[in-house]
Amino acid sequence: MMASNSGPTALAPAGPSVRVRAPAKINLYLAVGDVREDGYHDLVTVFQAVDLADELTVRPARRSAVRTTPPDGVPVGAKNLAGVAARLLATRTKSGGPVAIDIAKQIPVAGGMAGGSADAAAALVGCAALWELRVQRQELIEIGREIGADVPFALAGGTALGTGRGDLLSPVMTRARLHWVLAIADHGLSTPAVFAELDRLRAQGGGPPPVRPVDTMLAALTSGEPAKIAAALGNDLQAAAISLAPGLRRTLRAGEQAGALGGLVSGSGPTVALLCADAESAGAVAAELAGSGTCRSVRVAAGPAPGARVLPNGGTG
Ligand code: ATP
Repeated sequence: MMASNSGPTALAPAGPSVRVRAPAKINLYLAVGDVREDGYHDLVTVFQAVDLADELTVRPARRSAVRTTPPDGVPVGAKNLAGVAARLLATRTKSGGPVAIDIAKQIPVAGGMAGGSADAAAALVGCAALWELRVQRQELIEIGREIGADVPFALAGGTALGTGRGDLLSPVMTRARLHWVLAIADHGLSTPAVFAELDRLRAQGGGPPPVRPVDTMLAALTSGEPAKIAAALGNDLQAAAISLAPGLRRTLRAGEQAGALGGLVSGSGPTVALLCADAESAGAVAAELAGSGTCRSVRVAAGPAPGARVLPNGGTG
């Protein structure tokens, strides 16, 4: 059982520790099918991992605990996805023991950037290293899929096409290094609520026009040209996210007026991702957007970034 949060006793070092870094994702493209009888939607998505990342430290402890810094909006105890992942790995591999997990959070919570999934992926990688398990990344991906649809991609990283619930991945080759500005909102959006809003808009008959076929995005990524990639950005959830959080329209407009090539709501939002021509342009767009009053904070990020991985020199703590 995971303990509720985190007294110093629970997190006192009891041996070596492992540090792991796990990336946030942006959906460059997200097509959402109609709701299925089981309540899920079929997705076709193109993910990109970016160098905005959470860092986890995993160490053996007398009892399991998870502590997140800053703690806002993230569950403590049994519901934290990092703890869920550690327990599931221990069950599946019949190994391990109680662990204390410290999460240094950079990925916005409930921001459409799959921060919880990143933490789950990091916990899988961290525990596998701590327990010296002989598991292939593919096995971790299979376990990750049971935790959440975005966990496999947080393990894989890079740029990938996702189908099914977004969890069936194939890598996408691209020469492009993409420079993003992320506009982070002062509130979160619940992923199920955004899907429900899309279903509602579609049922009314006034749903948004669906995104174009994914081939346009894949061809743009092959070309490696940021302007072509910007023109191919698309997200079926964007209209639903804007319907629930109308201020996002202003954020998108402000980013494009500041000089971004294009932008979109990332996943279920409310983070807005703005694609820029190069690093210099991203810096300028970020500075202007920060002064626009249309979001809480602004971050620059580049992709693709690798999936969850152990950091060097993390072997002792
Ligand atoms: P999704 O992956 O569904 O797009 P998201 O990126 O919008 O989600 P997350 O930050 O992953 O949002 O959080 C979604 C919910 O998951 C949060 O509201 C929180 O209650 C729960 N959660 C559980 N564990 C974590 C964690 N380690 N970090 C963040 N959220 C977590």
